[in-house]
Amino acid sequence: MTVPVEVLRRLSQVEGLRVLPGAELRHHTRFRLGGPCLLLADAATPLAFQEAYRILASSNLRWTSIGAGTNLIVSDDGYAGAILRYSATEITADVRTVTVAAGADLNALIDFANVHSLAGMESMAGIPGWVGAAIYGNAGAYGQSIHQRVESVQFFDGAAIREWTNEECGFRYRHSRFKDHKTFQILSAKLKFEAGNREAQQEKSKQIRAARDAKFPPAMACAGSIFKNFLLKDLPEKARAAVPANKVIEGKVPAGWFLEEVGVKGLQIGGIKVADYHANLVYNAGGGTTAELLALLAELKTRVNDRFELSIEEEVQFL
Ligand SMILES: Cc1cc2nc3c(=O)[nH]c(=O)nc-3n(C[C@H](O)[C@H](O)[C@H](O)COP(=O)(O)OP(=O)(O)OC[C@H]3O[C@@H](n4cnc5c(N)ncnc54)[C@H](O)[C@@H]3O)c2cc1C
Repeated sequence: MTVPVEVLRRLSQVEGLRVLPGAELRHHTRFRLGGPCLLLADAATPLAFQEAYRILASSNLRWTSIGAGTNLIVSDDGYAGAILRYSATEITADVRTVTVAAGADLNALIDFANVHSLAGMESMAGIPGWVGAAIYGNAGAYGQSIHQRVESVQFFDGAAIREWTNEECGFRYRHSRFKDHKTFQILSAKLKFEAGNREAQQEKSKQIRAARDAKFPPAMACAGSIFKNFLLKDLPEKARAAVPANKVIEGKVPAGWFLEEVGVKGLQIGGIKVADYHANLVYNAGGGTTAELLALLAELKTRVNDRFELSIEEEVQFL
């Protein structure tokens, strides 16, 4: 399937839109996996995004949106539709309220907050990706998550630009209501910070980045932890009874503990491997395919289910 010439012509006339027909998605995902899409379009303004959306909708072309591709598994066959990215990156502050565009790098936002002594995200330093996806998946680490900062989120629902308050976003662990409305495109957010201390925050972020880089080397083709951790209270009886008390941290049990117990470290299918040092880290060691990745994930799920009667669920999104 190719994009009709007329659609490409109309898209190419949209101001603030950069269009790449036939982009190979492996160049746009951290796993370095995934075949071609019909086209990849980067919209630098809300208007450009809406115009691109309307052109694609009126042409009956499938579309989806992604960010930096750090939490995505894309099929080897690619995506038979258009990929839209909202790439605006502005970050501005008014006292302790920061307005940030969804295409801003999450780490640029954290560095901005640290420089301005705005506290509350310094422990999230090193989580890769863009702000829009961080809100979509309620990203977090080391006791902080983005929902604690969100005051409101502005998004395009396919017809109009709307705003949800924090409560309306329905945040919970690694979840927001945007996951139930996958066609809603987050455009920007207002975040409220605490009064902080620049040097202390910068030092904290530096230490956390160093620890993360040791665990997830920056060049590693992966999606971070591949399976979601559990809340102890949500575990089925057999799994809960098996977990040693010292593995429960702030009411959470790492999925990695169950995976380690079933001996998956170092397991490999083709070019896709479970890290030798971390059972919940799966990476493309070179030349891997998405088919191999899916086969390896299925093997890990089966082993955990057979032993603990527990379904482990991927944190990554599939395309
Ligand atoms: C090494 C490594 C470590 C990681 N560590 C952590 C961690 O500690 N904590 C954590 O929470 N995550 C972690 N992650 C996962 C990942 O960084 C986050 O999920 C991040 O928020 C994804 O951002 P992205 O821009 O790459 O999103 P993508 O992977 O491009 O997209 C993810 C999803 O977001 C949706 N999306 C993207 N942009 C928008 C938008 N503007 N509006 C609506 N929906 C949108 C897409 O539809 C897609 O389904 C890690 C990943 C890696 C590779």
